Amino acid sequence: MKKQDVRSMGIGTGGYGMNNKADYVICSIPDHVNVTCPYCEWEDDYDWDEIYSKMGSGLYYGNCGSVECEYCKQEIQLGECEYD
Ligand SMILES: [Zn+2]
Repeated sequence: MKKQDVRSMGIGTGGYGMNNKADYVICSIPDHVNVTCPYCEWEDDYDWDEIYSKMGSGLYYGNCGSVECEYCKQEIQLGECEYD
């Protein structure tokens, strides 16, 4: 919904000048990454801090290294990343 629509519906108080509230964004910090092993399809969560300390900020962009599958012990190369 656009701001003009809100005003025409009478929601909020005052007009220009009075309504100096700011929208805000709830920011979340990464907790873990979820990876599905391409070899055995085992899905596992990896602690963010642990792999971040290994790979650094490349972790935000993908193709940043590898993790070991808990199940089949294969090395999983990390490709593209997605945000949940
Ligand atoms: Zn595996």
